[in-house]
Amino acid sequence: MIKYLIVAAVLFVIYIAFFKKTAIKEEKEQKNKDKKNSGDIMIECSECTTFVSESEAIIKDGKFFCSKQCANLR
Ligand SMILES: [Zn+2]
Repeated sequence: MIKYLIVAAVLFVIYIAFFKKTAIKEEKEQKNKDKKNSGDIMIECSECTTFVSESEAIIKDGKFFCSKQCANLR
């Protein structure tokens, strides 16, 4: 009977350890997702100093611009 209890206890510990690992992994993945969604890098426009997200910025001659208008001014 004690043997079964030990086996059950070991299985329980393994189950808890596995479950915790999975939970932490999911939490990390969730944090990474949040970073990707909200952590868009803001870049200052070289012309009018307006901040635009990296995905919307226009790169010209190694400088960042908020719009085509600003990019064409120089
Ligand atoms: Zn601009």
